[in-house]
Amino acid sequence: MAQGWGQPGASKKFHYFKDSMTSICGKWMWGPALSDPENALEDGKHEHPENCAACKKKVILLERAANAQAVADSIIV
Ligand SMILES: [Zn+2]
Repeated sequence: MAQGWGQPGASKKFHYFKDSMTSICGKWMWGPALSDPENALEDGKHEHPENCAACKKKVILLERAANAQAVADSIIV
């Protein structure tokens, strides 16, 4: 499923979308001009200055959680 940074038409900032048409900060949706998020989203460059601060905070937490899960999954009991 698509995830990554994208710039909704009316926004000056980039917002992070993850498995949803709504940004993870909850403020932005893809407009009709961005009907194909699969091609437009860029996953990475989380520290880009044009990124939305709320999305950035959240994506870092999400990545940390995903990494913690990966570590937990790799432990053989
Ligand atoms: Zn945002």
